[in-house]
Amino acid sequence: MNPASVLVIGGGLAGYNTARELRARGYAGALSIVDPAPLPYDRPPLSKEYLLGRRGVADIELSPAAWFSEQGITLVTGSVVALDAATGTVVLENGQTLNADAVVLATGGSARRLPIPGARDPALFELRTMADADRLRVALAPGIRLAIIGAGLIGAEVASAALELGATVVLIDPIDPPLVPALGPELATRLHLMHADRGIEVLTGLPVEITAEGPVRTVHLESGRSIEADAVLVGVGIVPNTALAETAGLETDNGIIIDPHGRTSAPRVFAVGDVARIRAADGHLERRAEHWENARNAGAVTAAALLGQNPASPGAPWFWSDRHGVHVEGVGDMAAPGTSVVRSNPDGSQVVFRLAADGTMAGAASIDGGLAIRAARRIIDRRIVVAADLLADPAVDLRKLAR
Ligand SMILES: Cc1cc2nc3c(=O)[nH]c(=O)nc-3n(C[C@H](O)[C@H](O)[C@H](O)COP(=O)(O)OP(=O)(O)OC[C@H]3O[C@@H](n4cnc5c(N)ncnc54)[C@H](O)[C@@H]3O)c2cc1C
Repeated sequence: MNPASVLVIGGGLAGYNTARELRARGYAGALSIVDPAPLPYDRPPLSKEYLLGRRGVADIELSPAAWFSEQGITLVTGSVVALDAATGTVVLENGQTLNADAVVLATGGSARRLPIPGARDPALFELRTMADADRLRVALAPGIRLAIIGAGLIGAEVASAALELGATVVLIDPIDPPLVPALGPELATRLHLMHADRGIEVLTGLPVEITAEGPVRTVHLESGRSIEADAVLVGVGIVPNTALAETAGLETDNGIIIDPHGRTSAPRVFAVGDVARIRAADGHLERRAEHWENARNAGAVTAAALLGQNPASPGAPWFWSDRHGVHVEGVGDMAAPGTSVVRSNPDGSQVVFRLAADGTMAGAASIDGGLAIRAARRIIDRRIVVAADLLADPAVDLRKLAR
């Protein structure tokens, strides 16, 4: 395509990395990023080191302001409210109009709201932005009672951080254990049990209402049980920010539909990151990836496609998470049909491999097993068939199996 100008809507990791990769690939045209935040920042620390006060604002900037000037990338602070997909013209909430040959939608997702009475109470907490993290950090004084609805990746990370900050934590989820599709039942169970071991009250139940009395919030469960808290965090996933794409007439379906190179149904519009959903070559719609590495890789793929280059496939999707002093990683698809093989190492680290019927590996997940996941990723990407007994044996070097 090689457009004379590119406008990126959304300055999260996916939008930032699209711009970064465009310049790295020699793109010399006009390049702008529009986002409500003045400088692009990284989100994973918001539920970890930033929430704990161990990293500050400057530590989580994706690049310092000077880098954007050096690269000739214009940062526009604002929110886009309308897009004309045919002309590449966008309108900001202040009435400003911008135009570009190509537009990249990198609008990410917003925290999902619970569909129950009381869920729109502005005193409830969610965690998606730096401002959300700042607000939560102020609330997490020692001794505060924090109820967390949703024990997925973010709920679990905040539970761990809040405990470290001295809060009394109740963690509520309707599913026991959560995260089986991401990690498999073996690791999901072990990780979920860690919460109670560390002193968190873990409740399996479905919230049906949240009521308020003065500063206290009460979460009512379907079972009749109610939990009083000084702060309630709702961490039940995200909804993709597709409104702009929808009103611009782009194809959407729980995400903006793209081809594997980021092209939407409109020729001059691309989409990338959490908001995008790939239609594979065989026509099936893939699950949206809501992980950091996907946002980074997809930015590179889209930049290449914008320049008419042939981008390399990033391979099996990967994510990580940290809680209670352990490091969790997953690669590929742990929910794929097949069988699981567990490798338990003498140091307490553990890896579970998901094998398809034809002996290839579909996914792997680990607790404190990053090197094993790296090897598993090569095994998945190269479609190497490895015997289950070798995978299970901690004495066998996985790197050799990945060659
Ligand atoms: C607290 C937290 C912890 C996480 N931890 C991990 C982790 O440990 N491991 C992992 O793999 N992943 C983690 N993630 C997920 C990872 O951060 C996301 O997958 C990644 O940020 C997605 O990047 P994105 O650019 O697609 O979307 P986002 O980061 O959501 O960025 C989208 C941007 O678009 C802007 N925007 C939206 N609409 C408009 C508009 N109309 N006009 C202008 N701008 C707009 C938004 O303000 C936002 O800045 C975490 C996410 C969060 C929130």
